[in-house]
Amino acid sequence: MYKNLSSILKSVSKPGRYTGGEYGQIIKDKKDINCRIAFCFPDLYEIGMSNLGVRLLYGALNQENDIWCERVYAPWTDMEEKMRQYDIPLWAHESKDSVKDFDIVAFSLQYELCYTTAINMIDLAKLPIYAADRTDDMPVLLAGGPCAYNPEPVADFFDVFSIGEGEEALVEFSRLYIKMKKNGTYNKKDFLREVSHLKGFYVPSLYDVEYNEDGTIKSFEPKYGDVPKKVEKRIIADLNTSYFPTKPIMPFIEVVHDRIMLETFRGCIRGCRFCQAGMVFRPVREKNAQTLNRQAKEIYENTGYTEISLTSLSISDYSCLHEATDLLLEWTNPKKINLSLPSLRADSFTKELMDKVSSIRQSGLTFAPEAVTQRLRDAINKNLYEEDLLNAVRLAFEGGKSQVKLYFMNGLPTETYEDIEGIAVLAKHVVDEYYKVPIRPKKPVSVTVSVSCFVPKPHTPFQWEGQDDLQLLRDKQIFLAEKITDKKIRYNWHEAKVSRLEAVFSKGNRKLSKAIAYAQKNGMRFDAWDEYFDYDKWMQVFAKCSIDPDFYANRKMSYDEILPWDVIDIGVSKNFLISENKKAYKSKTTPNCKEKCSGCGANKLGGDITWCPKAR
Ligand code: SF4
Repeated sequence: MYKNLSSILKSVSKPGRYTGGEYGQIIKDKKDINCRIAFCFPDLYEIGMSNLGVRLLYGALNQENDIWCERVYAPWTDMEEKMRQYDIPLWAHESKDSVKDFDIVAFSLQYELCYTTAINMIDLAKLPIYAADRTDDMPVLLAGGPCAYNPEPVADFFDVFSIGEGEEALVEFSRLYIKMKKNGTYNKKDFLREVSHLKGFYVPSLYDVEYNEDGTIKSFEPKYGDVPKKVEKRIIADLNTSYFPTKPIMPFIEVVHDRIMLETFRGCIRGCRFCQAGMVFRPVREKNAQTLNRQAKEIYENTGYTEISLTSLSISDYSCLHEATDLLLEWTNPKKINLSLPSLRADSFTKELMDKVSSIRQSGLTFAPEAVTQRLRDAINKNLYEEDLLNAVRLAFEGGKSQVKLYFMNGLPTETYEDIEGIAVLAKHVVDEYYKVPIRPKKPVSVTVSVSCFVPKPHTPFQWEGQDDLQLLRDKQIFLAEKITDKKIRYNWHEAKVSRLEAVFSKGNRKLSKAIAYAQKNGMRFDAWDEYFDYDKWMQVFAKCSIDPDFYANRKMSYDEILPWDVIDIGVSKNFLISENKKAYKSKTTPNCKEKCSGCGANKLGGDITWCPKAR
């Protein structure tokens, strides 16, 4: 423990972010340990502590007696200032040991705007930020999470990427590390070569990337014959038997999600063409109602939380939803434990569900139609009709609700101004539904329209698309603001500059690493926070590093172009994504997986999959 720490803690905001010692944290005796892992979340404690993925991996690794996984969160700027002033390197919560003394330092990269913060944590750990500059006696740096599906913009900073679900993969990775350390064959070079043979691990230093004059990729090849041309993602085959954290750490300070997060299933049957999660988490694998109920009871016993959130990408598609809520309500109702069902689709919203689940009655209602005209909804394959939405809000109003939140997106491929104007029209229709119900709710109607900007994402049917340029996104936001005249409708829009930066990194390649390094060196971090996001500064960084952001964010790519993320195989085939992209331009929909398999290819990954036909 650093001698100044206690006095420093008195001088920074929310010292509980840094103390550790919470109920449920895992402490081990170092002499029993063969591999120490510092698990870094590149954002604040309050956010990291709420991330189910981090809870899962922390628990799965600590299931192993000789592996000790500890938590590390990004220090807020006031703490960072003190750390640099008193020369205190980044430390882990459990042992307070310095991160640079660990064997493996793992990062969970959840969103592109966390990159500078992640690199800053490496720097605060007193490690060289570039993988090529780190020596054998320094930890192995691994990264995973959703951003690892296009790891290229940060490839130069990490030794290896874990692609897909890590619960089993990270244990295998640590076991290999222990084996090579024990049998004396460990050096980083040989270790990483061996790691490249494990399924689901991408070692960027083992691939050569060449570029054409115009900046597109000419070739992307493994350096050696034993290194896979493509890295196939890992999935957990059976969620009913795999590890799930039932004794989460109880935070000292309030965190973003301070409740039981109960994962119901992974993947999504829908196939919305802009949605990366809907593609990369395929195929769908469900937990049965008994497993869910057992896990909920265990977590309740270990935490006393009075809210349970059933998490998934689309809860209404969970085939055991009614059986599970019946089982849960049997004991949660008497204990006054709230059940919440985020991500309900309008076309599955029923009176039965509303009557059954208290929180649905209590809280506001949120639907994500994303687009308004049927033409555009078909183009993005939302498979939702205006009538579905109006039925759902009518039910809600009849059930006593008065607040409705609707999520839309601007800048979608094929979008017209008629589509945008339609948002104002639909919101008005929702208000009108309120005045049609015979017995109106006590509270006056309020409809919130929240509009984000489309960001083209890797491994989706829209991965080749360019984002609207900044001015056009702005013009569309102003156009909609002028169309929404009803005072009962509130209009929120996302800052287009943030979405533009996200698009640059979302579709970026390795050339972006110098911009990230330069930005971090010049004090940029916490880009996902309004108070630290500085668009103009980023444009200066790009100029300084001869990076043209339009090339990444706005340029439409051709189907035969080598994509920076082509080295990652998510199971869903490129041909399927191309056919879905073409269908979008004809506003042709694809049935969901429950209705009919459309042959995306994800079933080749196997597992206890719910809807997929067995792969041949
Ligand atoms: S293989 Fe078929 S059923 Fe399975 S996820 Fe793909 S489209 Fe859906």
